[in-house]
Amino acid sequence: MTDSQGEGPPARPETRAAQAGHFTDPHSGAVVPALQPSTTFARRAQDYALIGTAGYTRDHNPTYEAVESLLTELEGGAAGAVFASGLAAAAAVVQALRPGDHVVAQKTMYWGFREWLVDFCGQWGLGLDLVDIAELGNIEAALRPGETKLLWLETPSNPLWEVVDIAAAAALARAVGARVVVDNTVATPVLTNPLELGADLVMHSATKYLNGHSDVLAGALVTAKADDFWQRVLYNRSKVGAVLGPFEAWLLLRGMRTLYLRVERNCVSAMTIARHFEPHPAVTAVLYPGLESHPGHAVARRQMRGGFSGMMSIRVKGGAEAALRVTSRFHTFVRATSLGGVESLIEHRASIEGPDGPCPPDLLRLSIGIEAVEDLIADLEQALVGAG
Ligand SMILES: *Cc1c(COP(=O)(O)O)cnc(C)c1O
Repeated sequence: MTDSQGEGPPARPETRAAQAGHFTDPHSGAVVPALQPSTTFARRAQDYALIGTAGYTRDHNPTYEAVESLLTELEGGAAGAVFASGLAAAAAVVQALRPGDHVVAQKTMYWGFREWLVDFCGQWGLGLDLVDIAELGNIEAALRPGETKLLWLETPSNPLWEVVDIAAAAALARAVGARVVVDNTVATPVLTNPLELGADLVMHSATKYLNGHSDVLAGALVTAKADDFWQRVLYNRSKVGAVLGPFEAWLLLRGMRTLYLRVERNCVSAMTIARHFEPHPAVTAVLYPGLESHPGHAVARRQMRGGFSGMMSIRVKGGAEAALRVTSRFHTFVRATSLGGVESLIEHRASIEGPDGPCPPDLLRLSIGIEAVEDLIADLEQALVGAG
């Protein structure tokens, strides 16, 4: 790959993303990086050295290079790696801990990871405290000097979109020698760069905003330092085989070229919808960090650049029954899980997470896409008629 950008003035992240790192293929002149499906790579006759950068795709594939270096650049890290899924990336970090280590994480966060974490910590002999992060003091109280090795944060977090002050939380973790990982799936590097705020690692479900088209399952990590811990994480990816397929890596880079455009639109539309429905008589609350009424608004204003993401939840008057009735009436929103795609999705979270989770039963989670916002508002309006 060649990158003539190094010779000119430094380009803004949105330019780097749109140009996939200003890529030009030195052999063909192609402006799109090639997809390399090969699982194995040849060696030279004279010294048995590898001809290129890869030997076997479970360790590395040349298709990863453009996408990993672009994401590393957008997050301001030292190195990055793509994984088979967001959870594969998260697991590679947790599996780099040793039995006896202690982990602090949030009570409300992406439920699939929370469930796995609770289960795995039991299996692996890791201590785990899940805290309510509405108060920073709860994190401080849970951290154990010398023993806590990982503080896992997600902001804004599923499904209430609580906002964690990354800089303040990271300072507390550092004081006891714990690494800080931030799940930046929802904010994306467009809105927040956790490494800049003191985090050690950033994790993404690249399935969501980074790819943006609901057609690739992928995960990613970016590290502030390429240290021994990072080597252990890469070892886990390679030896457990939590690797992304080359075609998925190629599609992911293609999706990321429009990341800034999409997220900008997601944020503007979400803000419009949040403002419109906050006073609605059938809605008891709109949970969106962009609203002044949201408890995380002040921190979000400081921490998120010019937008509050495309994710929000609404609580419907009349409880679970009313929420499910409303859910059945959508025509433009699609009733489906996941988030961060170009199409808007709506989901009754409690049906997915089960009655034991912290998700309120009257809550509907909305992922705002890039459609005409008027159509989304009209769909929500007609679905809410007579609710509660
Ligand atoms: C979807 C999601 C994950 C899990 O990622 P997968 O790609 O589905 O494995 C983790 N964190 C957040 C915030 C998510 O939205």
